[in-house]
Amino acid sequence: MRDLRELYQDVIIDHNRTPHNYHALENANRVIEGFNPLCGDKLKLYLRVENNIIQDASFEGAGCAISTASASLMTDQIKHKTIAEVEQIFNDFHLLLTQDTATVTPRLGKLAVLGGVREFPARVKCATLAWHALQAALHDEHTVVSTE
Ligand code: ZN
Repeated sequence: MRDLRELYQDVIIDHNRTPHNYHALENANRVIEGFNPLCGDKLKLYLRVENNIIQDASFEGAGCAISTASASLMTDQIKHKTIAEVEQIFNDFHLLLTQDTATVTPRLGKLAVLGGVREFPARVKCATLAWHALQAALHDEHTVVSTE
């Protein structure tokens, strides 16, 4: 039986090597750039939001393995969900990364593999960069968002 942590690392490595949804989205109606100065992670998030549903999501950028894997997993997980559902997923994800007592909820899906990042507080901003961009995109706040 392999160590769970190794399994988590495998998923992160796979998503970093071949990120899902890694392309520009031509018919996006929300585009936002995110930046994590602590690590140097940069990403551009593309969303097509219609009738309060995320019809499509993609990203481009350059960052560490955690930030790329997180954006890859996030764009997979939020597609075809309502904004309200996505807010709940973000809440669960944020708790998972910041609270020792947080549990993995079913709606997290594969995002649960990023729970191990909690042990490395400096990397939490890498894992949440895509989510900060998502929040800003959904609330139409800025065109560039920074974790600092
Ligand atoms: Zn990073």
